[in-house]
Amino acid sequence: MWGEMSQKDWYRILGAEPSANLSDLKQKYQKLILLYHPDKQSADVPAETVEERVQRFIEIDQAWKILGNEETKREYDLQRREDDLRNVGPIHTRVYLEDMSWNKDEQCYAFSCRCGGKYTVSKEEVEEVNLISCDTCSLILEILQPN
Ligand SMILES: [Zn+2]
Repeated sequence: MWGEMSQKDWYRILGAEPSANLSDLKQKYQKLILLYHPDKQSADVPAETVEERVQRFIEIDQAWKILGNEETKREYDLQRREDDLRNVGPIHTRVYLEDMSWNKDEQCYAFSCRCGGKYTVSKEEVEEVNLISCDTCSLILEILQPN
């Protein structure tokens, strides 16, 4: 289920930036949903256009279901970030979580990058992502799951 949900760019569907906050997203959603609402279409629009608009309407509705909910939005953002990283760059290192050091002050796992920077990931994030980027360079670390 989640795999399907993450395929679309829900921010783009709402015409929003990924950095938009919830009230921005809500505003855009409300504007679009009115614009594409089947009941609001004029009668002289060709059937194909009507069909397209219905599709848009459904997408906009789905986008809001995901982005309008804190939990699903967070999951989607993490998924997006991981997809972005996959597209960006070379994986520098693969390590098991147990090889990373636990940073008690910041409540995250850390691993040193060869550039002198650090890879960090929180306990919550680590359950959902396995690619993280260095905080100072573009290298990526993959966290391996123990068998
Ligand atoms: Zn680095």
